[in-house]
Amino acid sequence: MRKEIFQKTNFMKYPGQAAWEHRMTSAFNKEKIRRFAKRITPKSWNIILHEKDALETAGVLNILLSIQGQDTQVYADRYGNKCYEYQGRVGEKYFANRYGDIFHTNQVKPVLGMVLGRMTFKELNSFGGDKKGKHAKIIVQLWPDLGDWRVTLVHELAHVAVYRWRAFVTKDYKKQGLFKRYIGENLRTSIIREQLSMENHHGPRFKKALLSLAKRAIREFGEEISEDDVFWKTLKFELESFMK
Ligand SMILES: [Zn+2]
Repeated sequence: MRKEIFQKTNFMKYPGQAAWEHRMTSAFNKEKIRRFAKRITPKSWNIILHEKDALETAGVLNILLSIQGQDTQVYADRYGNKCYEYQGRVGEKYFANRYGDIFHTNQVKPVLGMVLGRMTFKELNSFGGDKKGKHAKIIVQLWPDLGDWRVTLVHELAHVAVYRWRAFVTKDYKKQGLFKRYIGENLRTSIIREQLSMENHHGPRFKKALLSLAKRAIREFGEEISEDDVFWKTLKFELESFMK
């Protein structure tokens, strides 16, 4: 999940914001967002805007970008818990997370993007054929009218990379329980277990993935996006805030 880091005034002060927002969620711009994601991700990641474009090919990870407008805005507290907007008895606005903690408007930040649910896997249908394997799917929600959607994409796709890593490692880990083959197996298993537990929301794997996606963005867009574009500044800020 990526939250708005800068103050809200950052995007509230543009008078033409409504029009701009409309443009960002237009089919044309959704495609622009999809292409950006496509260019910074591995070939086996199929970035789509519509469910029907999912590829049922072994080894493919389908990533459905769900582009949201401001009417579906969600908020998060400082720990990244989703918060919902409520109205008090005298009409005052407040927010609450699922634990029942109450927040004022200035204590929550709009969510710019988040991975929705988990990664799902589907076995290929093999009607007597020789096709075998699985394809995966995950949904990334994006609010492109808030903040810099390009940096938000880099951030959320790093989460996707961690999900994928987790799936591989967990599979490997489970298999190990079934076939104990060599000395050091127990050590390896405990290292994997340790790695899995260490990887919280923005853990070491996330940072690694974020850095590699950022490098990919620099390689792909280094010449295309001009040097004074806010993208580079925001990307740098994003990296610095996680690489401490
Ligand atoms: Zn995050």
